[in-house]
Amino acid sequence: MQENAFSLSVANAPPGGATVKSPRELDLMREAGRIVALTLKHMREVLEPGMTTRDLDAIAESDIRGMGAIPAFKGYHGFPATLCISLNDQIVHGIPGDLVIKKGDLVSIDCGAIVGGLYGDAAVTVAAGEVPAESLRLLEVTEGSLMAGIEQVRVGHRIGDLSAAIQAYIESQGDYGIVREYVGHGIGRALHEDPQIPNFGSSGRGLALRPGMAVAIEPMVNLGTHMTRTLDDDWTVVTADGGLSAHFEHTILVTEDGPEITTKL
Ligand code: MG
Ligand code: MG
Repeated sequence: MQENAFSLSVANAPPGGATVKSPRELDLMREAGRIVALTLKHMREVLEPGMTTRDLDAIAESDIRGMGAIPAFKGYHGFPATLCISLNDQIVHGIPGDLVIKKGDLVSIDCGAIVGGLYGDAAVTVAAGEVPAESLRLLEVTEGSLMAGIEQVRVGHRIGDLSAAIQAYIESQGDYGIVREYVGHGIGRALHEDPQIPNFGSSGRGLALRPGMAVAIEPMVNLGTHMTRTLDDDWTVVTADGGLSAHFEHTILVTEDGPEITTKL
């Protein structure tokens, strides 16, 4: 698998364990998350057919730096941009460039920011103009599965509980492909920390959550097969069958009061 994955490749686990963040670090994560959320909100507002993905990327970089943060992806394992923008059958890690967004495209935008050394990471998939009902449904199912996973982010719950809830939600909605090679992750002092958080799995397994831990949950759901391949640019991951894909992500803090989403306004 890739050394360069943002949505961690399963074969590419980072060393070390899940970190418990200090109150000061959690505050920095809240600020990083807020900046990511504001940037993604702005992307939704300005996105329109006719723009290139590079246009969006330039606005995002200016937003993030203007709010006093650092784009988390730029330079990460050599990634050249602020956003990952993945259109239609592209699942994740698309590189912004000359590609023009067309009416009817599904546009996945993944964004990360660093404040005081602490990270926020989130993604949304939006429709450019009108899209078929089947595409809208894919967006709803994918975002719904993210929320089902977030509901499980509670002290004492295990990573497998998150994975199982995401999988069960998607499977309850129809015959979708759940991407297996790329997964969610711990987050905080680095973009990718342990543990990995697959979007499928068995409840009761894996690390138990403690207050001060943080996770990035990021289901990737396909209309067809779950199988993927990587394009010749060594970054862009696409569906093996050319079917549409969607991706939603939030960064969530584990607290005694339940899940706290840092990347939601
Ligand atoms: Mg991520
Ligand atoms: Mg991300």
